[in-house]
Amino acid sequence: MKSVLCVAVLAAGLWTAKAKDVAGREIAPWQPGTLDIHQISTGRGNSALYIFPDGTTLLVDAGDLARKTPHHTPDRPDGTRPAGEWIVRYIRHTLRHNPRPALDYALLTHFHADHMGVVTDATPMSATGAYRLMTLAQVGESLRFGKMLDRGWPDYNFPRPLEDAAVKNYRAFLEWQSKNNGLKAERFAPGRNDQVVLLREPKKYPEFEFRNVGANGEVWTGVGSATRRHFPDLETVPRADWPSENPLSISFRLSYGKFDFFNGGDITGIPSEGFPQWHDIETPVAQAVGPVDAAILNHHGWIDSMNGFFVATLRPRVWLLSVWDAGHPTWRVWQRLQSSRLYPGPREVFATDLHPATREVILGLDKLASARGHIVLRVSPGGGEYRVVIVDDSSESHRVTRVFGPYPSR
Ligand SMILES: [Zn+2]
Repeated sequence: MKSVLCVAVLAAGLWTAKAKDVAGREIAPWQPGTLDIHQISTGRGNSALYIFPDGTTLLVDAGDLARKTPHHTPDRPDGTRPAGEWIVRYIRHTLRHNPRPALDYALLTHFHADHMGVVTDATPMSATGAYRLMTLAQVGESLRFGKMLDRGWPDYNFPRPLEDAAVKNYRAFLEWQSKNNGLKAERFAPGRNDQVVLLREPKKYPEFEFRNVGANGEVWTGVGSATRRHFPDLETVPRADWPSENPLSISFRLSYGKFDFFNGGDITGIPSEGFPQWHDIETPVAQAVGPVDAAILNHHGWIDSMNGFFVATLRPRVWLLSVWDAGHPTWRVWQRLQSSRLYPGPREVFATDLHPATREVILGLDKLASARGHIVLRVSPGGGEYRVVIVDDSSESHRVTRVFGPYPSR
């Protein structure tokens, strides 16, 4: 009996030692039961890897910039490879527990370069000859996507036909991968909670849920899987008032036990001057989502995002900011994030790559918990608590620079 106890204690000790993230050491590998959210820093766009408690994997976006200016931070780790290659290498390393790493799901929040990549005559052709290796296609070709979710499949014509080179190339990628590698493309359907599910051990983690919240102006009501259309019938609206790409972004809520996380792509909540109020998509989204533990800033914290109602309603302890541009976040957004009038209690903001000029201009940005590095949100088995692990993005060392938490889930 004693020896059984000893073995049990030893095993528990080993698990803790293995799972422990310590500054200066390589980040601990993902463990079954843990929910990992990796916000990958490339200095060129948005990209995140999610590892669900049973090992099911999800990629959210894989972006790039058409050109870099002094407004942008340098490429991370450096400019010797395109962003897509760095992302693939980061994911391969992070999924090294899997002898054949692949992405069960990929989700493209909206059709902008910093979320899907760029296509020019210089973008290399895929060996298939069917499409060019823009960032998302490069990741999908190297790691294979099981199911691809976007806001436009299959006709890509809302609110107007999407015919630019990047979307055409993306569709060629989908077509080739569907025909030859079994990729399944679907339109993201707001309200549903069965479009992204655990694929390996769903019965083991019944408290896990991926809830589709919004896309294309259609928003979950928060009740069952019901949705409502937030935009008026566009036929009754002057074309000049039609929404741009950002407010059409996909948004979702991920829950694991008491832990809740929100991602809203580049949705907007503050209409540009003179534009109709229904351009505010954050308000109905926040009404459906409610309070969460952690969330990523909408639209990188740009001036048209993060309205007071949205901040006060989600009221997370942890905010993530995917950033590489001196224009993000903007001053008023930063003030709202800090406001104890909007919601009480402590909160931390973690940025992937804050531009030094932004810090010069916006007072108080020294209060950022972290201004640089891959951000890994690590939710413990069962979802009761979580940590934020910052990982060096200046090399492929995967070295932890700082660890925050644990924070109790609410
Ligand atoms: Zn963006």
